[in-house]
Formats: sequence, C-alpha cells, structure tokens
Amino acid sequence: MESITLPSHAKINLGLKVGQLRPDGYHDIRSFFQEVNLVDTVRLERLDADVIEIVCESDDVPHDERNLAARAARLLKDEHDRSEGVRISIQKRIPVGAGMGGGSSNGATTLVGLNRLWNLHLSRAELHALSLKLGSDVPFFLAGGAAVVSGRGEHLYPVRGLAETRFVAVDPGFRVRTAWAFENLEIGLTATPPYISFLNSVMASGRVNLKRLFCSLENDFLPLVSAKNPVVHEVLDLLGRAGSQCSSLTGSGSVIFGCFANVEAVESAAELLQSSGYHFWICQPRTI
Ligand code: ATP
Repeated sequence: MESITLPSHAKINLGLKVGQLRPDGYHDIRSFFQEVNLVDTVRLERLDADVIEIVCESDDVPHDERNLAARAARLLKDEHDRSEGVRISIQKRIPVGAGMGGGSSNGATTLVGLNRLWNLHLSRAELHALSLKLGSDVPFFLAGGAAVVSGRGEHLYPVRGLAETRFVAVDPGFRVRTAWAFENLEIGLTATPPYISFLNSVMASGRVNLKRLFCSLENDFLPLVSAKNPVVHEVLDLLGRAGSQCSSLTGSGSVIFGCFANVEAVESAAELLQSSGYHFWICQPRTI
C-alpha cells in the first residue's frame, strides 16, 4: 500500500464539567462526546525520504511539525524506529479553534492510518497510549462514535449515540483558545450536579435518556465565554426560537450547537440563521 485516504470526524460535547487541576497539570473532565459527520479528509502517502510533509490549503493550521497530524507521525517514527517518511494532505472542513476537535481528530486519524500504511500492527491499547501523548481529546477519536469521557480524556465509556438527533452548529464569529479558557475558568466545588448524575446513569445503563440529557446538560465554559462574547446569548436565543431541544457550547467553544428532533425543525433553524447572517453546519451523529 502506497497511500491511504481517511475521513477525520468532528465531535460535539453534549455537556462538559471541569474538575480541579491534577498534579500532572491537567484538569479532570466529565463529558458526553458525540462524533458527527462533519469531516476533514486526511490522505497519507508513503515517502522514501525521512521527512514528514504537511499539505493543507487552510492558513488556520500549522504547516510544520506543530500540526497534530505531523506530531502523530513523528511520535510513531520516534517510538517505532521508522526510517520512511509521509506526506499528509489535509482537506479542512471542520472549523479550527471551534471546540469541534478537528486537530485532535486529524491526529487520531493519522495514528490509525499510519499504523496500516507502515504495517506497524499496533494494538488498540498501544494506539490509546500514544494518542494520550498527543492530546486529551485524541483517544476519543480512535474509536469515535459516542462515549462518556472522564479523567483528562483517557477514560472512555462507549455508548450508543444520539442516532435520531440532528445538530446545527453555529459559528458565532469569534474563536476561543482552549488554553485561555482553562486558565480563566473558575472551578467551583459543587455538589453532584444533575449533569453528573445523568452521566453516571448512562454508564450504569449503557443508554442515553434524551429528555434527561437535555434538561441536565451543562457546559462549565459557557458563563466565561458568553461573558466575554455576548453574541453567544444571541445565538442561543436564536436556536431556542428555532425550536432547538437544547443548545450550548461544544468544548470551550466557540461553536454553539442546537439539537433538533427532525429535519423540518432543522430547516426552519437554517432559515432563521441564514437571514441573521450566521455561518453554520448541519450535521448528524456518526453511529458505529
Ligand atoms: P481543542 O481540542 O483544543 O478544543 P479545537 O477543537 O477548539 O481544539 P482545533 O481545530 O483542534 O480546535 O485547533 C486547536 C489548535 O490546534 C489551533 O491552534 C490549530 O492551529 C492547532 N492545530 C494543529 N494541528 C491542527 C490540525 N491538523 N487541524 C486543526 N488545528 C490544528
């Protein structure tokens, strides 16, 4: 095999609670991750020369070894003594710095793709350990689908996703730097909030009660991000008026998503967003 082309999916966080800083410098999180069918395309071509090349038309992502796909390739080369190189061509569709995990997803896709292209025969557990070295959201994208995620992202509890739900993901016109969001977050010592009880029930039963999800969903970054960017309230209000069952930030933002029960509801939301001049994506869960 000389090349391999793979889709690299985005995610939506249906709720996100952030815990105290751990001794290793990471925060514990609790979240429900859902992969969606908004995808980048990652093409990996074997090169004889010992180089890692990034080809990408987007100016929003690094074109050197800071790119998460390049970092994934570097990790595999270094830890598995590979002398060959790779050209990684990324067609970006997932908005960058938007909380949809595009970089992490590209990193995971590259790990999985190079495992095949370079015949590394790494097990799931080995890929999982490598993925954590790239970033906290990367392990989720190895398997994808839907999962309750905890720890700093290393503990994954796969569940059946929200097959019937349709999402509208809105670009509010600004970006959030994840590091800034974590640095500025005030973490309260709260008792068990309803969202955590909901996640516990999902892990106990393996099922998602949509009604319970929608009424307990909470994202700890929302107060911080909306205080700095009042447009967040405008978008949430618009999604609510359009009939969303629930809406919030994904990750630390900036994208704001709404959940809709059917195609008709999505269409009326799309009309409203269009007439208000917002850029948005309609997507649905990737179920595996
Ligand atoms: P996070 O996982 O931090 O919440 P995000 O979903 O908000 O990330 P990403 O699109 O993953 O946003 O980009 C975060 C940062 O990673 C950006 O500064 C971007 O330049 C950098 N980055 C590195 N490689 C990639 C890549 N392949 N695709 C997108 N961003 C990348």
